[in-house]
Amino acid sequence: MRYAILSDIHGNLEALQAVLRDIEQQGVDKIVCLGDVVGYGPNPNECVDVIREKAHICLMGNHDYAAIGKEPIEYFNPYARDAILWTRRQLTGDNLAFLRDLPFLHIDGEITFVHSSPHRPEDWTYILTPRDVYHQFNFMQTPLCFVGHSHVAIGFARRGDDLWILLEDEHRLEDHEARYIINVGAVGQPRDQDPRASYGLYDSGQRTFQFRRIEYDIEAVQKQMEEAGLPQYLIDRLSYGR
Ligand code: ZN
Repeated sequence: MRYAILSDIHGNLEALQAVLRDIEQQGVDKIVCLGDVVGYGPNPNECVDVIREKAHICLMGNHDYAAIGKEPIEYFNPYARDAILWTRRQLTGDNLAFLRDLPFLHIDGEITFVHSSPHRPEDWTYILTPRDVYHQFNFMQTPLCFVGHSHVAIGFARRGDDLWILLEDEHRLEDHEARYIINVGAVGQPRDQDPRASYGLYDSGQRTFQFRRIEYDIEAVQKQMEEAGLPQYLIDRLSYGR
């Protein structure tokens, strides 16, 4: 089974479409979305429409949760808060209903899919460092877990007390005694100094994983964000991927 794993689209339709064009050429069986379809970007409805049509499963992200009014917006920085309130006003009833029904976690064979972390997904814990990730491995019901949320594409592996980081573009996850937590990065708002859209490809037969980075028309999105009156800081950061 070949999976394309996307996360953190954040209303960025240009980035999502560029990623889907790449996916079409990869011969993928299942598209999995790890959540945060909305928030920040100018096309929340269009992105939800596309995900509803294309993704086999979509999980709940913290911005989705806030957009449906479940997560108190005080937890967000002022830019994110403005974008969430704007997004809430845009979303159609149908799309709000879709977001309301999203699950927090999904297990498919030996893979766990979750937006934030395997331990208490609804706490929206960020996994950024080896220290953050270490105890998360204890809460995995499967050897492999894909996450998003931090907008940083990076993988972590643990066997016993050994912990290592996966940074190369391609990996063979061949250590059957190890557990892996892989962050596929963000489609719509990367924060790892690379402004290109990020997603992951996993082949469960070969046990190979690939980080993919895709160019898209960033200026077109920025123009739409300006027209929508979204915060300048959110517009600028797309150029730098941070
Ligand atoms: Zn996000």
